[in-house]
Amino acid sequence: MEMPSGIERFVRPQFRGFTGYSASTSPDTLEGKVEVSQRDIVKLNANENPYGCSPRVLKALAEKPEYHIYPDNGQQMLRRTIAKYAGFPAERIVAGHGSNSLIDYLVRLFVGPGDEVINFSPTFDLYRFSTQMYGGTLVNIPRDDNFNIDVTKTLSFVNEKTRLIFLATPNNPTGTVIGQGDIRRLLETGIPVIIDEAYYEFSGETSMPLAAEFDNLIVLRSFSKWAGLAGLRVGYGVFPLRIAEYLMAIKIPHNVSAAAEIAVRESLADLDYLQSRIRDIVNERERLFTELKKIPFLTPFPSQANFIYCLVKDGQATALHDALERKGVLIRNFTTSVRISVGKPEQTDKLIRALRTI
Ligand code: PMP
Repeated sequence: MEMPSGIERFVRPQFRGFTGYSASTSPDTLEGKVEVSQRDIVKLNANENPYGCSPRVLKALAEKPEYHIYPDNGQQMLRRTIAKYAGFPAERIVAGHGSNSLIDYLVRLFVGPGDEVINFSPTFDLYRFSTQMYGGTLVNIPRDDNFNIDVTKTLSFVNEKTRLIFLATPNNPTGTVIGQGDIRRLLETGIPVIIDEAYYEFSGETSMPLAAEFDNLIVLRSFSKWAGLAGLRVGYGVFPLRIAEYLMAIKIPHNVSAAAEIAVRESLADLDYLQSRIRDIVNERERLFTELKKIPFLTPFPSQANFIYCLVKDGQATALHDALERKGVLIRNFTTSVRISVGKPEQTDKLIRALRTI
């Protein structure tokens, strides 16, 4: 690689050629590029909650007068509130600005140059991103045709360099849930296992009870999807006590905003409302799946999350993504496959109409 000049000479060599995380397209950037007005864009590319957050959140945010005061760096109230929902003591909980940041902190804590991180592809790209950021090596173990994992094969990749195992369930982008038997076998290796449950509330299946039994289990959750707080950035994890203490020590100060703290409190006080929205989304997911099956160039996979993964005939996912984008329908492109978030019924209708005209 060519030696950089100017100020770039001072950038650490490991970041030359570093591929960042490729985030979903924001409608703000599409002005003039699509056939519909920005207001009519159907955004199904980031697994957001189409119903937004609880109305209690909006009201409480508007009423609070003290945004000039820093939030509590120790997250005491926040951790206690989450503790009741998660069913573990507050000392074992740490919150972050999105569970993204907790993934990054965990890699920072456990992984250095030469260390290995086990990953089951295809999956959430941030595990790769953070591993490479800290100089670790990602050991990719491909999932099978139904996106399940092969634990016996995985065990053969565990060695003295293995520092972490990342497993998203339901998995992004495939929507696959991994059974407790497989998770137990991973935990029995003694390696720290991170179960990423960002979409747990849509599946109802959790590994949380195993956190009482295994001291190498970490469970991450997010308020972005089910509670509709993606824009406020807040997630949390249940950690072994010592790891929670380390994370509190290495995290950036005041890492959860005052607004996000309020939003969590109000969301957890409005569970009936949010759960009824989750049921709407799950019902709509099943209708979307039935509709997608009728599209001849798509092969959709059953999902337990708030999105559906589809293989695209002849691998033409980019062409499909671009054609839908021109019509104002945004989906996530994975080159030979796509991921479509579950929206409101009228958004499903617009998507299906657009797919039929392609
Ligand atoms: N884990 C998975 C599997 C995800 O899909 C996402 C969001 N794309 C996250 C974690 C991070 O969510 P957030 O940072 O918004 O909490």
